[in-house]
Amino acid sequence: MRVLVVEDEIRLAATLQDLLEMNGCTADVCHDGEAGLDNALSGIYDVVLLDVMLPRIDGFTVLRRLRESGSAVPVLMLTARSEVSDRVTGLDSGADYYLTKPFEPKELLACVRALARRQPELRGGVLTCGDLKLEKDAFILSCGERSVRLSRKEFDMMELLMLNQKQVLTKESLLLKIWGYESDAEDNNVEVYISFLRKKLSHLGSEVKIKTIRMVGYCLEGGGE
Ligand code: CA
Repeated sequence: MRVLVVEDEIRLAATLQDLLEMNGCTADVCHDGEAGLDNALSGIYDVVLLDVMLPRIDGFTVLRRLRESGSAVPVLMLTARSEVSDRVTGLDSGADYYLTKPFEPKELLACVRALARRQPELRGGVLTCGDLKLEKDAFILSCGERSVRLSRKEFDMMELLMLNQKQVLTKESLLLKIWGYESDAEDNNVEVYISFLRKKLSHLGSEVKIKTIRMVGYCLEGGGE
């Protein structure tokens, strides 16, 4: 799970990042509202933790712009103790949940998990496309009687392709969603993993293919309607 932390108190931001990473999330940090909004708009996060009082753009404005641009990413607002009117403003601007500072680490983690669960298509179960089945807990891709286990990155990539069957995914978005901002992975990594997946699809004998759209990206073909 990838979480964005938008918090200008450097120490609190670092603590949140550590806490999330110790609990199996990947966490990126922004220290002002402008950078926070930019990153949140990338669409690569499962949950955003958003402080209210922020430099450049305040948390409420960030949230409102995020919602205006059509993003439904779950947002957990972090606000100073007992600012009741803040809570009302935040709910009006489309926050999913509030936590007042200081909060218990356990409480924060429980909120993050609960919010991430609201995106059911991202957790557990089976995805299908044409004759292909992707078992999300076991990382197994199968077609009829044949099946292969995918590596973590292959799985992430196949999942994105299957969740966006009618869209072309750009190399850049695959790179961001799978490797994140902080990595030094290059476009080339995407090509490498696409070629691994193509080999596995052909081994499975699936009618589904990964089609290259020149200069744009990739999409699945052969999944039917
Ligand atoms: Ca603040």
